Amino acid sequence: MTHQNTIDTAPEEVFASYRQVNLIDAKRVPSKAALDVINPATGLVLGQAAASDADETAAAIASAKTAQAAWAQVPARTRGKQVAAAARAVLEHAELIAQVLARETGKAIRTECRGEVAVAADIIEFYGNLGSELKGQTVPYNPRMLTMTTREPLGVVAAIVPWNVPLVLFSLKVGPALVAGNSVVVKSSEEAPFATYLMAEIMMRHLPAGVLNVVNGTGIECGNALTGHADIAKITFTGSEAVGEAIYKVGAARLIPVSLELGGKSPMIICQDADLDKAVAGAISGMRFTRQGQSCTAASRIYVHDSLMDAFMQQLGAALDQLVIGDPLDEATDIGTIINARQIATINSYVAKAEATKGATVTRYGQLPQDAALSPDLYAQPTILTGLPDDHPCVMEEIFGPVAVVQGWSDYDAVLDQANSTHYGLAASVWTKSLSVALDSTSRLNAGYVQVNQNLTIQPNVSYGGFGRSGLGKEASLEAMLDHFTRSKTIVMNFD
Ligand code: NAD
Repeated sequence: MTHQNTIDTAPEEVFASYRQVNLIDAKRVPSKAALDVINPATGLVLGQAAASDADETAAAIASAKTAQAAWAQVPARTRGKQVAAAARAVLEHAELIAQVLARETGKAIRTECRGEVAVAADIIEFYGNLGSELKGQTVPYNPRMLTMTTREPLGVVAAIVPWNVPLVLFSLKVGPALVAGNSVVVKSSEEAPFATYLMAEIMMRHLPAGVLNVVNGTGIECGNALTGHADIAKITFTGSEAVGEAIYKVGAARLIPVSLELGGKSPMIICQDADLDKAVAGAISGMRFTRQGQSCTAASRIYVHDSLMDAFMQQLGAALDQLVIGDPLDEATDIGTIINARQIATINSYVAKAEATKGATVTRYGQLPQDAALSPDLYAQPTILTGLPDDHPCVMEEIFGPVAVVQGWSDYDAVLDQANSTHYGLAASVWTKSLSVALDSTSRLNAGYVQVNQNLTIQPNVSYGGFGRSGLGKEASLEAMLDHFTRSKTIVMNFD
């Protein structure tokens, strides 16, 4: 087994060192209150994170505001170089960050956490290389006047992240915000804050003090204090639909821009001519089974052409049975735990609704771990639901667990209508060898990220974001930095 690097300190020391602190002005600043952070795989307390109140949150915003004025004056390419150096420094500590992440999220170290650190650093470095792309335009308004647009930073950005892929989502916000000349106050997820702290603190060594700050706390206290503060110029949020809607209202009241990455119920349409092996592999990766399905992009509605149904179910079941469910820190484990008791209760309640539905079939795959040291209640088996009516809650709503619905189809137009029938619109995929079917279906699918014959995760240079109630705005790509972390100023000069 080769790792990117060795652990430079014990993860336990990381938890202890971030006991009840925020990262403000590049310093660890004590918070008056604490929140326990639990290792979901064992049920044991890992450490205590800050439970920031409004004053503590305001201190981070004040630090960011002071630092932003000077940061905006640094040439954009220099800012980018500093951000890229910060990303490379993260990679030097990749194994430690991954070990911390695995303990606090319950995600498997081998299949999920190492990859997440690498992708997160890659996103930050990608943006670090885009400093000189913060260009405006000249406008042919009048030959005797100079008319141009410039790109300016917005000011202090509030960046709020959830627990499922905290580092990647941190990077998609912090990378473009910083390179564009903003400063940032991140609110880490109270379920899994420590890997975010560690990554941020490593980055801070390469950045002016105060341009990046991290506070932790509950959404109600810390989150509201952050989004509602008069010095916040932009909110970028990833999380649940309900909280996204509430945050949008907070932003609306102050007329500031808000970007939202929310839930999903992404369809995967497998056509008669699809390569079945690729489609089965794509269903497993697209459904993010190794992340326990805890993904907004999860391909959780799989529509299989009737002619392939039996073979697909057989191959999918055989492959899912091979996945090892167990201790996230064990190198043999493919699938770790669900984040907390609340989340598994939600998952179980959806599966119970399917079990209570006449004609439905619920099939669980793989084996639950038998190790007594592990908390058995937080493990969930990959589960496939079939025979559900189109309007069933398991078909229409995000479950955020390893539960996918498989439905057969024979009518092409009808399956596209079914695919477009939820209020979400985050991602979709079509599996076919026909270019005309690919062109037609991708133009008709109501989703912000549509793929053919693959179910890739986020790529730094490919714009990503949802339609409908999956969110507002894009992340990743140059476009996301320009559209969501800068404002365009028009300047008309007349020396006539
Ligand atoms: P959540 O909405 O409960 O919490 C997300 C973050 O918001 C946390 O840091 C939380 O403390 C904070 N928060 C809660 N209430 C707040 C408030 N009133 N003001 C400000 N901040 C507040 O979501 P979660 O349970 O942590 O994450 C799971 C959800 O995230 C799922 O619905 C999933 O679909 C979504 N998600 C979306 C994407 C995407 O890119 N579209 C990616 C990952 C996760």
